[in-house]
Amino acid sequence: MSDTPRRWMTERLHEGYLTAYRADKVYYEEGTGQWNLVIYENARFGRMMSLDGVTQVTEHDEFIYHEMMAHVPILAHGNAKNVLIIGGGDGGMLHQVTRHKGIEKITMVEIDKDVVDFAKTHLGVICRNAFDDPRLDLVIADGSLFVKKPPLKYDVIIVDSTDPIGPGAVLFTQEFYRDVKGCLAEGGVVITQNGVPFMQADELRSTMEKFRKLFTVSTCYLATVPTYVGGPMAMGFGTNDESLLTVPLETLEARFAAAGFATKYYTPEVHKAAFAHPVYVKEIVAAA
Ligand code: SAM
Repeated sequence: MSDTPRRWMTERLHEGYLTAYRADKVYYEEGTGQWNLVIYENARFGRMMSLDGVTQVTEHDEFIYHEMMAHVPILAHGNAKNVLIIGGGDGGMLHQVTRHKGIEKITMVEIDKDVVDFAKTHLGVICRNAFDDPRLDLVIADGSLFVKKPPLKYDVIIVDSTDPIGPGAVLFTQEFYRDVKGCLAEGGVVITQNGVPFMQADELRSTMEKFRKLFTVSTCYLATVPTYVGGPMAMGFGTNDESLLTVPLETLEARFAAAGFATKYYTPEVHKAAFAHPVYVKEIVAAA
């Protein structure tokens, strides 16, 4: 571990826009099989991880992204037994999924074993002990290949991917979404991370176009994550079970109460409200 008090980590994900985080300590910095991975400490966000210079997860705001990506589909479904996570190497998504005791099997397909290993060593604040959950089947593989021959069908599939550059790009293609649909059990739902629509409108537009060819429900919901800069981020929601979109508030409240854990962002009211879109998002979702 090195002390680097004046070093700034810059992120240039969006054209014409620079974000910088001060690294007060760098815990780890090295190339993995896939990425240049850095884990460091920032005064505001705590422990942070970036891959190829793009922030993936931070200690202090991870709960927003992970709670919303996990609890919205699982509680909308109401009886999920098999869950598939694609990506998600930091383990934060896995942690939130493991909190649902009714889930019988969790399969996580991550392309880079090093991300998992470094998360276990340096990001315990994010993954907790989720990797020890006996329901977990951790597969180190390209998610786009795994979904071609899935060993079983899944009630909820969460695509916790990097942005559509590098190894993550295949997780945004029509072929991948078609294969994911083939992995869904009846009444199943797929969730995708689709970036910040104000900054990355094309990313959401493209996924919505592809979803529309496959699902009767192709929409997104929103959550504001401070380190995914530029406004709320969009989480794609694709299913052929329209009832998942209209679960009454009282039903969500009953399911959440039965789940028996506390959250810091998710509530059934937030769940319902997250599907309300400002006009600029509505236009992206509706664009042909
Ligand atoms: N919340 C994050 C974000 O968007 O900033 C994503 C975090 S998670 C660390 C993303 C993970 O997806 C990484 O660990 C990366 O190795 C994994 N990944 C990227 N492409 C993949 C692929 N084709 N198959 C499986 N995992 C992949």
